[in-house]
Amino acid sequence: MGRIVAIANQKGGVGKTTTSVNLAAALAKLQKKVLLIDLDPQGNASVALGIDKDNAEMTVYDLLAEGASVEDIVLRAEQAELDILAANGDLTAAEIKLLEEELGAGRLGEALKSVKAQYDVIIIDCAPSLNMLTLNALAAADGIVVPVQCEYFALEGLSALMDTIETVQRELNPNLHIDGLLRTMHDRRNNLANDVSNQLVTHFGMKVLQSIIPRNVRLAEAPSYGESIFDYDKSCPGALAYFALANELMRKTQI
Ligand code: ADP
Ligand code: MG
Repeated sequence: MGRIVAIANQKGGVGKTTTSVNLAAALAKLQKKVLLIDLDPQGNASVALGIDKDNAEMTVYDLLAEGASVEDIVLRAEQAELDILAANGDLTAAEIKLLEEELGAGRLGEALKSVKAQYDVIIIDCAPSLNMLTLNALAAADGIVVPVQCEYFALEGLSALMDTIETVQRELNPNLHIDGLLRTMHDRRNNLANDVSNQLVTHFGMKVLQSIIPRNVRLAEAPSYGESIFDYDKSCPGALAYFALANELMRKTQI
């Protein structure tokens, strides 16, 4: 059964999309059958893998708001060798519709039931918000990975996220497991980054993943070519770090 992993943090710009795309691509390179779900109306994950989001015939909006199935909307990211459910600005309208529904938080999980067995892993790139879309991701997920940028305000907001996770575990999804906090955009030469990294470990202990994603300009460049880091520059430090992360998660969880 495919493990559903949500990549979430309500802070923007912490590396959620970069992690979703490159973790998904790393797992695909390791021969896993991967589905990547773009659950952010910004559609950054879709664009990062070369999908023309605004001309996609059907997107996650159709899945969540129009009763389409995964099979109806799934696209193939050929180069990255994975399946993707694309998103664009329409997704905002789906969020509003879901808010009006009593069981709105469970819609994504329902839709994934029929395809879960076809994949080894399903990765969900969440929006920078604890909104109804993110709730859908957490309600559907087996695990959550929380990217944390090693900078001054990194810890701010993490306790709100932990509270949300506890509420979801209590009320929607007792199976939700914290797969780990992931340090992103880390610069070893920067004392503050090291301090924040140490603080995270003090605070969250074993929940902090061993793999650390370094700040690497190649990771920022790859999306503009519509390529994962493995197709853009497979031996750069960012690529090696995402490979290490994929291996760590495969060891620690059932992927
Ligand atoms: P989020 O999805 O959390 O908003 P992104 O993954 O889009 O964050 O990252 C925010 C910005 O930082 C993007 O421009 C991205 O290319 C860049 N970025 C992300 N991770 C790294 C990294 N490890 N090194 C350098 N730039 C990065
Ligand atoms: Mg993003």
